[in-house]
Amino acid sequence: SIVVLGSTNMDLVAYVAKAPARGETVTGREFRTVPGGKGANQAVAAARAGAEVSMIGAVGADDFGVRMRAALEHSGVDTDLLRTVEGASGTAHIVVDDEGGNAIVVVPGANGTVTSLDHGDEALIGTADALLLQLELPLSVVVEGARAARERGVRTILTPSPVQPLPPELLAATDLLVPNEHEATALTGETDPAAAAKALLQQVPEVVVTLGAAGCLHAVRGAEPRTVPAPRVRAVDTTAAGDTFAGVLAVALTEGRPMPEALAWASAAAALSVQHEGASTSMPYRAAIEAALA
Ligand code: ADP
Repeated sequence: SIVVLGSTNMDLVAYVAKAPARGETVTGREFRTVPGGKGANQAVAAARAGAEVSMIGAVGADDFGVRMRAALEHSGVDTDLLRTVEGASGTAHIVVDDEGGNAIVVVPGANGTVTSLDHGDEALIGTADALLLQLELPLSVVVEGARAARERGVRTILTPSPVQPLPPELLAATDLLVPNEHEATALTGETDPAAAAKALLQQVPEVVVTLGAAGCLHAVRGAEPRTVPAPRVRAVDTTAAGDTFAGVLAVALTEGRPMPEALAWASAAAALSVQHEGASTSMPYRAAIEAALA
């Protein structure tokens, strides 16, 4: 099984021809609310891909919280250890313009209250095959979760997003780091993905750098980094492509698939997700991934 320790955010998306400048008001074309947050997105991707998935995190005591919990459960994610806390759920306020560019304000809300784990959380992590982590919860609990997993021999997979300097104790408890190209550069100062991956290998044993339409780059100690091309598709909305990739990669690895095969699964799922609008709503189910791979 897979445990996700991470964020839930309601994405509040306004579609507009051109984003407003400071002091300006513009009329938008459309508004949508979509359950998101990197943690919840990875949980949905993994559950739809066929794994048993549990989510540790928090939603607020508001309508968004009710809806986000229901959305997770609808995709098959166990939310028994997803807390409901006083105050607002996490929200992401997103303005998407006609060129597909976006500007985002994330207000952590309930996510910010998840500062430590209790015995129940640690026990659940101990039963998992893999723990998925991102950086949208307080860093203290991310470190605590990674350590709890490491102590119990559970594989840890970290998406370093939103990117920030990673404490040595987090890196020391990370088995697989999955940054996108921009994050890999921010973490290392290297603009070339292969050089960035090699630099990261000094701190973690295995790295997969995602490269958008160009696929991904796999690097492991003792071998040359290897590029895996992405399926050629018409991308409509690449939101949460990275979360789909990480969630499905975790599923394939916990099924015992070797890394090249697991990367093919993750790439196929991510390519399916970018062909439709919506983030978590566009993530593929297992049958679709298998059909794409066949
Ligand atoms: P993020 O969403 O975190 O910025 P990327 O843009 O690198 O991450 O995308 C993650 C993965 O999603 C890629 O490695 C690739 O497998 C897939 N992907 C993203 N964009 C496309 C695309 N246009 N065509 C096919 N696959 C894509």
